[in-house]
Amino acid sequence: MTTPTATPSPAAPPAWLTTGWNHVWLPYAQMQTAPLPLPVVRTTGSEIHLADGRVLIDGIASWWTACHGYNHPHIIQSVAAQLEAMPHIMFGGLAHEPAYRLATRLAALLPDPLDRVFFTDSGSVAVEVAMKIAVQSRLNRGQPNRTKFLAFHGGYHGDTFATMAICDPEEGMHSLFAGMLPPHIIAPLPRDPTSRATFDDLVERHHHELAGIIVEPLVQGAGGMIFNDAATLRHLRTTADHYGLTLIFDEIFTGFGRTGTMFAHQQTGVTPDIVTLSKALTGGTSPLAATIVSRDLYDAFLSDSPAHALMHGPTFMANPLGCAAANAALDLFETQPRLAQAATIAATLRTELAPCRAIPGVSDVRVMGAIGVVELDHIENPAALRQDFIELGVWVRPFRNIVYLTPALTISDEQLRLLCRVVGEGLRKRSFLKKRTKKLL
Ligand SMILES: *Cc1c(COP(=O)(O)O)cnc(C)c1O
Repeated sequence: MTTPTATPSPAAPPAWLTTGWNHVWLPYAQMQTAPLPLPVVRTTGSEIHLADGRVLIDGIASWWTACHGYNHPHIIQSVAAQLEAMPHIMFGGLAHEPAYRLATRLAALLPDPLDRVFFTDSGSVAVEVAMKIAVQSRLNRGQPNRTKFLAFHGGYHGDTFATMAICDPEEGMHSLFAGMLPPHIIAPLPRDPTSRATFDDLVERHHHELAGIIVEPLVQGAGGMIFNDAATLRHLRTTADHYGLTLIFDEIFTGFGRTGTMFAHQQTGVTPDIVTLSKALTGGTSPLAATIVSRDLYDAFLSDSPAHALMHGPTFMANPLGCAAANAALDLFETQPRLAQAATIAATLRTELAPCRAIPGVSDVRVMGAIGVVELDHIENPAALRQDFIELGVWVRPFRNIVYLTPALTISDEQLRLLCRVVGEGLRKRSFLKKRTKKLL
């Protein structure tokens, strides 16, 4: 059995890191107090190799993108061949096989009316395109005032201005950018009959200004790994149908086996009008995203007027390297038992994280597919907890009040058990320290 302590101790950081540190700006970080990040020189499978020789077991697969593990030979080969043949070509007026094949495959994987694919290069932009399509389809059909979206508390859809405006208002950046964000309707998810009545009233009052409803099906990921269910999503579908709203499922987190099925909506019996995909689309190798749209919405853009065309076109749209990686990643879902692996991971997470329930301060332990969540009343110092995990040999990033595992679907049983054990160990140590004195932290 791998022991968490079998790693060399930290060494002096390499020169490129200390020099570049004066010029690099990190995500979501207060740079004045941010610690120097860990220098990584190599990845393999579910392992992160640091410059000083230490190896960390990766519990979160680089923001849950690397679903096939790092450096999968099939993806490497496909991207290498594509790099040799044609790293990039513009998508306006020119076509390439990897993108056309990928669009055909995505349309075949998704349920029937979803068959038109628009490629972009990040999740946020895929969501923006979905919003643009929902609004412009109504403009094209002579409905000018349907420009708002109904989104939900706990939701996360990106960091650009349009997507910030539909994220959770408390956890998101609504107050920081107040006045700059277009107002949308952000409501609690209608999870039970009482909240459904309140929700129905809200939609009745606002439907005339709404273009669509956007939700992360089954799991709100970056907003706190909060689960929802089929009945809730069915209610959203019924509401959308009743008022003629576009139902957008943001599957950027939940897509590609993460919740146990290829896409989360397949477990719910609900088909949305638009699906957004990114993150694990390329197996975590290159930035690529897709907005997949129903035939009816697509038809709203067909006319004699150039003004009815979808006005969007990123420079690196459908980048051939990204499309080659995505095709290779899809091959692996066809040839490898990824969904069975997700089911095995779920079973292991259930048994191995269960003891965390007994740790003081733990308020919930929940698992869906290859997602394991330990929720606490409060995490005093997430950075210190993360440091504990590093010292115990794993890469896990607590945020807000949760510690979560979203490993590669290819993680070994031994690595997964080690991750679970270390999460328990780290949390026990922290809650013990908290009782003594803050000086220790
Ligand atoms: C990560 C994420 C996004 C944003 O994707 P980026 O590539 O970071 O822009 C949007 N929606 C969901 C559900 C996500 O998890």
